[in-house]
Amino acid sequence: MPEIPLDSIGPAKILQLNDVQTGLRAVIVVDNVALGPAIGGVRFSPHVTPLEVARLARAMTLKSAIAGLDHGGAKAGIIGDPNQPGKQHLAHTFARLMAGVTEYIPGPDMGTDEQFMVWIREEIGRACGVPASLGGLPLDELGATGFGLAACAEVAGAEIGLPLAGARVAVQGFGNVGRAAARFMAELGTALVAASDSHGTIHSPGGLDVGELVAIKRQGGSVVDYSAGTVLPQEKIFACDADILVPAATPDVIDRNNVETVRAKLILQGANIPVTREAEEALARRGVLVIPDFIANAGGLIMAAMEYRKKSAMEAFAMIREKIQENTSRILQRAKREGVSPRQAGEQLALERVREAMAIRDLSRPWR
Ligand code: NAD
Repeated sequence: MPEIPLDSIGPAKILQLNDVQTGLRAVIVVDNVALGPAIGGVRFSPHVTPLEVARLARAMTLKSAIAGLDHGGAKAGIIGDPNQPGKQHLAHTFARLMAGVTEYIPGPDMGTDEQFMVWIREEIGRACGVPASLGGLPLDELGATGFGLAACAEVAGAEIGLPLAGARVAVQGFGNVGRAAARFMAELGTALVAASDSHGTIHSPGGLDVGELVAIKRQGGSVVDYSAGTVLPQEKIFACDADILVPAATPDVIDRNNVETVRAKLILQGANIPVTREAEEALARRGVLVIPDFIANAGGLIMAAMEYRKKSAMEAFAMIREKIQENTSRILQRAKREGVSPRQAGEQLALERVREAMAIRDLSRPWR
């Protein structure tokens, strides 16, 4: 297994799971549980690496802490094709092998869904992101993360003097997060001018019809099947003239090679770690405001935590708006006061909370 860096807060546990009978190969990283048991997605992909899982687990620690949730951070990665036959058997095997990691509450992520969480919960009695019929809050169906991104846009837009009414938005990755972000931001008056998925980019300076695009995706199509607009290669989304860019696909999509092409004034990180550190610094030097993932895309996590507490969808939406707007303002104020980036300000705030909890807790005691 490649070296996973350790620092003063974690990871607390790194587990490699191998089951020779089913061929299951998985990694679980429990980063930190000082604030409470860790909620974190199970990513199922042939490309997921232990280092990626560790980075995502840390992002969950920061996201929970900054959101003021009583949860730590963890993540799991199952290495393999998520569309392979026998997925139910793999889910049960995965759950059995991780049953003893009681401080980890699994949730859905890329390659896993509500059904997968049901299989895990059947085995170990805990998981979030289960279907509504089993008491879950289906966060992708409800658009929790996209709703949070729109709430974040209200505060971040005001910070840079950008009224949302008429603001032009580009969404990279028109999946669960991207679609909901486009929909909720349109309700605030923005115009979606570009959207992309794994087939390409659709661009129309006059605005795209969000409802039509959502319908095309629901029917299994691609954004490039949209009736009007110009079809461009995937990568060109970053160079489209927009005020707000929402990267909502995969990690590290904005890096040193394309950062200079980005034209937006505001970037809301819908995906986890979609911008490399180097590119974030380059954007800051150009005066582009970047709201980091653990603030901007915390809506899904907040809804998962509300599901775990058996709250309603309405209560969850109210909590997402309140927490994300409060946290966005807090990090922006601190960033200005201390002359640091919003990411640094957020990390400082989150780490203070984690360290305070570590100092007063005996972390050798297991979660019950
Ligand atoms: P999804 O699979 O529903 O959507 C991803 C979309 O990105 C798809 O439309 C896919 O076609 C597109 N895509 C993939 N590669 C692309 C590329 N190179 N260029 C353009 N589009 C590309 O996934 P999702 O649930 O929307 O999650 C998106 C990202 O947000 C992931 O990184 C996930 O970890 C993160 N995230 C999700 C949530 C959530 O609530 N679902 C919460 C926080 C963070």
